[in-house]
Amino acid sequence: MSKAWELLVPKMKALADLKSALMLLHWDQLVMMPSGGGEARGRILATLRGIAHDRLGDPELGDLLAQLAEDASLDADERASVRVLRRDHERAARVPNDLVRAIAEQSTITYGRWTEARRASDFAQLEAELGKLVDLKKAEADALGWERERYEALLDEYEPGMTAAELENMFGDLVSGLQPIVDTATEGAGPRPAFLVGDYDPAKQDMLCRRLVTMIGFDFAAGRFDTAPHPFTAGVAPGDVRQTTRYRRDEPFPALYAAMHETGHALYEQGLPEAFNHLPIRRAPSGGVHESQSRLWENHVGRSRGFVDYLFPHLKELFSAELDAVTSEDLYRAVCHPRRSLCRVEADELTYNLHIVLRFELELAMFRDELATADLPDAWDAAMEKYVGVRPLDHSDGVLQDMHWCIGMFGYFPTYSLGDIYAAALWETVEQQLGSLDTELRVGDTSRLLEWLRENIHQQGYRYEAKELIERVTGKPPSPHPLLRYLRSKYSDLFGFGAGT
Ligand code: ZN
Repeated sequence: MSKAWELLVPKMKALADLKSALMLLHWDQLVMMPSGGGEARGRILATLRGIAHDRLGDPELGDLLAQLAEDASLDADERASVRVLRRDHERAARVPNDLVRAIAEQSTITYGRWTEARRASDFAQLEAELGKLVDLKKAEADALGWERERYEALLDEYEPGMTAAELENMFGDLVSGLQPIVDTATEGAGPRPAFLVGDYDPAKQDMLCRRLVTMIGFDFAAGRFDTAPHPFTAGVAPGDVRQTTRYRRDEPFPALYAAMHETGHALYEQGLPEAFNHLPIRRAPSGGVHESQSRLWENHVGRSRGFVDYLFPHLKELFSAELDAVTSEDLYRAVCHPRRSLCRVEADELTYNLHIVLRFELELAMFRDELATADLPDAWDAAMEKYVGVRPLDHSDGVLQDMHWCIGMFGYFPTYSLGDIYAAALWETVEQQLGSLDTELRVGDTSRLLEWLRENIHQQGYRYEAKELIERVTGKPPSPHPLLRYLRSKYSDLFGFGAGT
C-alpha cells in the first residue's frame, strides 16, 4: 500500500464521520427535535459544516490528492476514491469561507421569509430576500468556475458531469413525447375515483406501510421508519439508514407511495458495499441515480398491475368499509389516475415531469440573467400553462409551492426527472435480462429485482459517473425514450382511446 494512501485513510474517515454527524443532526431536526431547539441547532449545524468545509478544502489534502492522482500502485476503487474526493476538495477550496457563511445565513433568512410569503400567498414578501440569495448563488457559481453555462457550476453539485445542453435536449424530447400521451390519457381517465379520499385511520396506514417496506426488503435492524413533515431518507452511517413518511387521515395513498419511494432510497443506502465504508465512493454518483431507485420502486413496482394485485387484499383487510365496492382493477386505475394539477408533489406519474421541466427552464433563465427574480411569478404562471395546461389562481399554488430555491438549491430539480429517465432505462434492462416480473410482483416477491439492483447499482457506489454507470448497465447512454415507451404503453392500455369511462 502506498504511503500517501495510508496518510489519506484517516482523513477520509474523519470526513465520513463529520458527514454522518451532520446527517444525524439534520434528521433529528426534522423528526425529533422540540421546536425550542431550532435556534441552537442552526448554530450547531453551521459550526460543524464550517469544520467539514475547512477540512475538505485543506491545501494539505489537495497536495496529497494531487500526489495520489499520479500513483500507479492504487487499485480501481482507490483511484475512483481519489478522483471523487479531489473533485469535492477542489469545489470546497474554490469557494471562500465568508461566501459559504453568507449563503448559509441568507438561506435561513430566505427560507423563513418563504414560509410567511407562502402563508400569505404573496411573492412580493419574498422577492427581495430571494433576489439576494440568487445573487450569492451566482457569486458561488463564478467562484466555482464554469465554461459554457454558469448554471452548470451549480448543477454539478447534484448531477456531476451533466450539461445544460444535454438536459435541454433530453427534456425537449421528453415534453414533446409526453404531451400527446397526457392529452389522450387525461381525457380518457375521466373524474378522479371517489375512494382516493375518505376516512383512513393513520394508525392502520402506518401498520400497512411497515408491512410493505419490510416485505420489499427494508432492514429494520439497520434502519428506522418514522414520520416527518416532508418524507425523506437519511443515510446516516453504515448500518443506520432512516426513512420517513407522513400520514393524512383523508388520503392513504400519498403515504403509501411515499413509503415505497423512500424505501427505494433506503434500499440503495443499505445496499452500498461494506468494503467502501469510509471511502468517498460510498454514495450514489448523483442525485438522479439516487432518485432512479426511489422512482423505480414507487412507480415501476408500486404502480404496476401485478403489485397492485398483491397490495389489494392488504388494503381491503384494513379498510373494508372504505373500499367495499372497489376491485383490484379499480385500485390500479386509481393509483395511476392522471390529471393536470398545480402541485408538483401531488402530481401523478404521467404529468410529474412537466412540473420539473418548467422549473428547470426558469432556473436556467435566472442564471443566464434572462429572468429577474421580480418576474418569476408571471414566468411561472405562463410556463405552467404551457407545460401542464393549468394556471395557478394564486402564488401559494404557483411559484411559492416549493422550498428548494429558498434554501439555495438551484440545479437540483433536474435530478427528479433524470431519476425517472434512469429508472425507466433500468427497468427496461431488468425486463430484458430477467423477463417480466409481473407474476412474482403479484405475490409480493421482489427478491430477484432487489438482487439485480444490488449487483448492478447499489454495489457499484460511486465507482463511475452517473452517465457511465447507466450506459454500462443498460448498454446505452441515458435518453428519455425508455420512459416515453413505458408511459405510452401503460397509459394507452389504461386510458387510451375507447378505454375511458
Ligand atoms: Zn426521492
